[in-house]
Amino acid sequence: MKAFCVQTNYTVKLIPISTLKPYFCSVLIKPKHYTMSLITVGTMAFDAIETPFGKVDKIVGGSATYVAYAASNFVTPVQQVSIVGYDFPEDEMTELKKRGVQTEGVEIVPDKKSFFWSGKYHLDMNSRDTLVTDLNVLADFDPKIPESYQGAEFLMLGNLMPKLQMSVIDQLKIRPKLIVMDTMNFWMDIAMDDLKAVLKKVDVLLVNDAEARQLSEEVSIVKAAKKIMAMGPQFLIIKKGEHGALLFHENSVFFAPALPLEEVFDPTGAGDTFAGGFIGYLAKTKDISFENMKTAIIVGSAMASFCVEKFGPDRMKEISKEDIDERLSQFVQLVNFDIDLV
Ligand code: AMP
Repeated sequence: MKAFCVQTNYTVKLIPISTLKPYFCSVLIKPKHYTMSLITVGTMAFDAIETPFGKVDKIVGGSATYVAYAASNFVTPVQQVSIVGYDFPEDEMTELKKRGVQTEGVEIVPDKKSFFWSGKYHLDMNSRDTLVTDLNVLADFDPKIPESYQGAEFLMLGNLMPKLQMSVIDQLKIRPKLIVMDTMNFWMDIAMDDLKAVLKKVDVLLVNDAEARQLSEEVSIVKAAKKIMAMGPQFLIIKKGEHGALLFHENSVFFAPALPLEEVFDPTGAGDTFAGGFIGYLAKTKDISFENMKTAIIVGSAMASFCVEKFGPDRMKEISKEDIDERLSQFVQLVNFDIDLV
């Protein structure tokens, strides 16, 4: 009997020939080990933001930036995959590295600008218009997963071109235990087929309610959820801004509120921060059951509640473990009630 699979990340289990059916020689391959890490893929960008409370012309942003700031409170290393231009601030990279974010997978293009996005929020802050999307370096992005990232247990596909999200999945030699994907209406408008192909490969999808309706072509959120889960992901999170988030799985649904805040300065990145808190908590607890995901969406909501308190990711750089714990207690108070059934 011979073994022929020698790849180091796999164990090879040989089946005694006597137990095999004639003409079928099978070798079971299973991952030998995962590494306790989280890969995050997405944009690292500059944003220009206008809200009813103010305006910034250039602030660091990007889906992967927000995910990394949130997730690194729970799990390290966070293995970042992204692309930036010559203009992306070195001190932002240093700040991320200090938090356990690895940047080996972040390509720096010396002669091009970083991705730029500009948006203006409506009065209710739940909706916004995209004013500018300048792809810049993103136009030629071809993510390469460093060898040192292989074996990661968790993968967060932040908002990015679906083709690139797919390329990352294809490069991973061991399928992560959990793949979470974020996306947005922009990609539904211009790359719906690619997006649907990625959906078949992921476990959890995060979208907002308008995107869920656009993707499913259903008005009812419940019908939309069923249709989207039939497209691939077993779990679906529908974010509803200041009205919280819904977690769907099979025939179950769970609701997490958003913390009612007196002042919301800038909702930019709240979705990505939510995603970072969600997957960071799952990676920390190593439990990907529906029950644990309920807690994880509360954690995601708590992290997002910090993000909106200042422009850009500034608030995420200030918070401590004590701040997070205190905010989580506020969430417990918010939803805790007794009832005598009538
Ligand atoms: P969120 O508010 O959570 O939807 O995320 C906002 C962040 O997403 C901003 O910092 C932008 O730089 C980034 N972003 C905006 N549009 C795109 C896009 N089409 N693809 C990837 N990232 C984007």
